Amino acid sequence: MDNLKVIVVGAGMGGLTTAIAMEKAGYQIEIYDRVTALRPAGAGISLWSNGVKVMNRLGLGQQMAQIGGPMKRMTYIHKSGNLLTDFSLDPLVEAVGQNPYPVARTDLQQMLLTALGPEKVQLNAKCIAVEQTADTATAIFENGHRATGDVVVGADGTHSIIREHVLDKTTQRRYAGYVNWNGLVAANAELADQESWVIYVGDAQRASLMPVGAIAFTFSLMCRCLMTLSPKQI
Ligand SMILES: Cc1cc2nc3c(=O)[nH]c(=O)nc-3n(C[C@H](O)[C@H](O)[C@H](O)COP(=O)(O)OP(=O)(O)OC[C@H]3O[C@@H](n4cnc5c(N)ncnc54)[C@H](O)[C@@H]3O)c2cc1C
Repeated sequence: MDNLKVIVVGAGMGGLTTAIAMEKAGYQIEIYDRVTALRPAGAGISLWSNGVKVMNRLGLGQQMAQIGGPMKRMTYIHKSGNLLTDFSLDPLVEAVGQNPYPVARTDLQQMLLTALGPEKVQLNAKCIAVEQTADTATAIFENGHRATGDVVVGADGTHSIIREHVLDKTTQRRYAGYVNWNGLVAANAELADQESWVIYVGDAQRASLMPVGAIAFTFSLMCRCLMTLSPKQI
């Protein structure tokens, strides 16, 4: 299909990546986000080799290597301090031909935004509905704007409006019983091996330190949480 016009709703990881890929494929894109300013946020995300290969195909391989951390091993330690396992990721990398890269989420988001061109993201545009005919798809925004194209891509995250349209029903989000806290700390050899993703496991608990970039660890603490949250809070 040539000359498609693609309307992307949401300029998070998924929306930005889709917009870059669609533009590279020669399609015309419009991308919208409900926020008034895109402010990269978050702690760390691990992009495994398949995700990095996608970035390579989008021409972002060099940038990925610059923002990615040197993750060479994975180490699991029991809460008692006993080593459970420690293994090299070399066989995986050899088999698939690509390093995984843990990255700071802010770096990843900024990289994607720069690659697309931040001026292309139309802000302050909250999608409230989608309409579809045999030939067109239209995203309708709270500010009255209507964006019509051949395809509307719903990249509007976990509280997606567009999901409802695609599934033709409302879905109830279910609290899985776990909460995960993430943050960034300065890399320090006394905390953990700077080339290893170190994961401490306990009963229904997990804490980990993963090297992102050259100078930081992202820490993550996940545990079973018995509090009851309403779907709006999750
Ligand atoms: C602030 C933040 C910090 C995070 N930190 C981490 C982390 O440290 N580690 C980790 O592993 N994961 C983290 N995550 C989760 C991870 O980034 C997401 O799972 C991943 O980004 C999902 O990508 P996405 O593009 O589907 O959705 P999102 O990244 O959530 O992007 C959705 C975008 O759509 C926009 N949007 C939503 N509704 C509408 C609407 N109706 N109309 C228009 N635009 C809309 C939102 O403003 C947002 O920009 C974080 C997510 C967020 C939002």
